[in-house]
Amino acid sequence: MTESIGMRPIARETVHKLCSGQVIVDLATSVKELLENSLDAGATSVDIKMRDGGLTSITVTDNGHGIAPEDYETLCRKHWTSKITSFEDLDGVTTFGFRGEALSSLCAVATVTIATATRESAPMGMSLEYDTSGELVEKTAVARERGTTVVISGLFARWPVRLADLKKNARKEYTRLVGLVEQYSIISDGVRITLSNQTARGNPVVSVRTPPQSDRLARLLGVFGAHLRPHLVHFEHRAENVSLEGHVSRPEGGRGGSDKQYFFVNGRPCDLPKAKKLINELFRAYCPNRYPVFAIAVSVEGSVDVNLTPDKREVMIRCEEQVLLGLREALMKSVLEPDENAFSVSEP
Ligand code: ADP
Ligand code: MG
Repeated sequence: MTESIGMRPIARETVHKLCSGQVIVDLATSVKELLENSLDAGATSVDIKMRDGGLTSITVTDNGHGIAPEDYETLCRKHWTSKITSFEDLDGVTTFGFRGEALSSLCAVATVTIATATRESAPMGMSLEYDTSGELVEKTAVARERGTTVVISGLFARWPVRLADLKKNARKEYTRLVGLVEQYSIISDGVRITLSNQTARGNPVVSVRTPPQSDRLARLLGVFGAHLRPHLVHFEHRAENVSLEGHVSRPEGGRGGSDKQYFFVNGRPCDLPKAKKLINELFRAYCPNRYPVFAIAVSVEGSVDVNLTPDKREVMIRCEEQVLLGLREALMKSVLEPDENAFSVSEP
């Protein structure tokens, strides 16, 4: 007789910890989730304040619609969301979030406090504290304007390997975070987004501040640097199922590194490694040691799956080949080998 190998279910609390570690993998995903929640709440202002690069705390304050009292209890429970109810809803999802995992996962990897007020409750609101499994443990009335402030402290304090990694790569992690916030600042028309960091010594350092004008070019120059204005070219390309629109710098206006290369698929900041590689290779032939900056919006009809990874950065596009072909054609025509007789495509 074969002996039992002793199978048994993993305790719920352990499963929660294991899964949460996949949703909140680093500093950038922590902030990304909070920023997306603020944008999903219709905020026109989102202020992200880091203490010691996020090691001590991350505070995200928005002026969105706030959280209603009936949602306090369930807010940080796993897979509780106000955004979708069935798998079919995914096709039409217009919010950044939909998995109902971010807040619950943050509770597992850090200490979470939320202060919130709705239009009805302001100027009074509630400060809420949750335990590691996402249960509400403390409720205190506070004065505050409409909106929500989420404070994350002691990120990964109970996860020694992650914490050591975060400390070791603090500078790199912060730079990645800046890139991420920049991406959201480019596409969030009409939203004021700031990111700053305060260390024990010195004044806060502002890393991202959207300009008061809300037009796209002003936002792009805020991110790329105003000196790139003469080098930026605007392009558009339409084909069946795919349309592309964006700004890219001419080869000679590029940078020494391949950061500030941003894609948005159907309005979501994403990584498109094949497209990034294609563009860098195309440009290398014209200016070997420079990389272009770009912000490119890819719109594809109904054939995108954003649910590949918990952070939704990777997307599966059914017509990826068409996207790559379209990019090549558009960039050749408008930036790399423009028709000299055609009028300039740069914006004024
Ligand atoms: P998801 O965004 O996938 O729904 P989250 O765990 O990120 O899951 O958030 C859970 C719920 O909490 C959201 O569906 C939303 O209703 C509410 N929420 C989170 N952050 C905010 C915020 N800043 N303002 C208003 N509501 C929020
Ligand atoms: Mg969310």
